[in-house]
Amino acid sequence: MEILIIGAGVSGLTTAISLKEKYPDSQICIAADKFGEDTTSTIAGALWEWQPAVCGFYETTGLDPFLIEGINKRDNTWAFASYNEFYKLKGLLNTGVFWRRVNFYLTEDTALENNKIKELATKVFGFDNDSEQIFKRNKICQKASGFVGAYSYLTPMIDMSLYINWLTNKFLNNGGNIIWDSFESIQQAKEKYAPDVIINCAGLGSRDLVDDTQCIPVKGGWLLYDNLNQEGQPLVKEAHCTTIQENKEGGNFIFTVPRGADKLVVGGFALANDTDTDLSLEHALFKRIIEQNSQFLPWLQDAKPISHRVGLRPFRKQGVRVEKDDMFHVPVIHNYGHGGSGVTLSWGCAMEVTSLLA
Ligand SMILES: Cc1cc2nc3c(=O)[nH]c(=O)nc-3n(C[C@H](O)[C@H](O)[C@H](O)COP(=O)(O)OP(=O)(O)OC[C@H]3O[C@@H](n4cnc5c(N)ncnc54)[C@H](O)[C@@H]3O)c2cc1C
Repeated sequence: MEILIIGAGVSGLTTAISLKEKYPDSQICIAADKFGEDTTSTIAGALWEWQPAVCGFYETTGLDPFLIEGINKRDNTWAFASYNEFYKLKGLLNTGVFWRRVNFYLTEDTALENNKIKELATKVFGFDNDSEQIFKRNKICQKASGFVGAYSYLTPMIDMSLYINWLTNKFLNNGGNIIWDSFESIQQAKEKYAPDVIINCAGLGSRDLVDDTQCIPVKGGWLLYDNLNQEGQPLVKEAHCTTIQENKEGGNFIFTVPRGADKLVVGGFALANDTDTDLSLEHALFKRIIEQNSQFLPWLQDAKPISHRVGLRPFRKQGVRVEKDDMFHVPVIHNYGHGGSGVTLSWGCAMEVTSLLA
């Protein structure tokens, strides 16, 4: 069987690896117009989160609550499958996958967050929702911060530059093929390569590739800092996040996530339908990031970031699209529209694609 996968981000690579494991005799080719650092995937935070993620509300605003419930349930089946796969990578060299504690601080007492707490408690390692202890451990004055509660658990945090490399090598070492190509349509890919199956993992590119106007960009970005003190010890050992808060600059949230052995990602924001990714360090969005995260890390006020990144999350209002499509006279399976959770959902969605091909 000849399989053509469009897209070399986390979705395309993970799907390729899953398919090769299930169909070892298949010939799998990934074709894409961006690789490695040029993909959105390397801009991911990349924190594993129970769904909906911190910045996930754009996906579901205005939808029927039953539909939202269905989307969340399905996404969490995928998220949990990925959690287990990432656990298998714990401690392996060069994967970029680090297991650490994340602390979530609640800005409001909502049914959504209470539900998350209930579901997470039975699913993840090291779950804790003793708010008082969490505030104390992290030296946060609850009154001054205005937070109404907190919970915490152990989760994968991924250095995406290393991880994308690791996925790429794993795929190539298993006999996979990767080429540069750029498609205007699925039809064009079908005519050029005549594969038995096409898997669409084109992320936001699917908007044009399959004319899906539901797929919209939600801009995000972060600053990268050194995370070692003078003794070579990590300055920040755990991740700290808040739920999203809207203000005139869009949705903002605290997002402090250790990256790899010695770096720290500090974010974040979510701006729907804003595609300008060319932001200087002086931009108000970055100033806001420093201001809001300084509540936790006062040293940020004077620290110099190593770099900064801005990217477009591939949101899809009706939720992630993983399904067969019979429109093209060749079997096509879509796997795109993961919004701010493409890493979190990657293994679960890849497994779903694999089972759809059976
Ligand atoms: C600031 C920020 C923070 C984030 N934080 C997190 C996080 O903490 N946790 C998390 O799980 N997720 C996070 N995400 C989301 C995550 O990055 C995305 O959901 C994920 O990268 C989507 O992966 P993908 O492989 O589907 O798409 P991409 O990485 O965008 O890859 C798409 C691929 O398709 C190819 N392609 C597209 N169109 C065409 C075409 N026409 N022809 C040929 N090739 C094409 C591209 O070249 C590319 O190779 C974050 C995103 C951003 C921007």
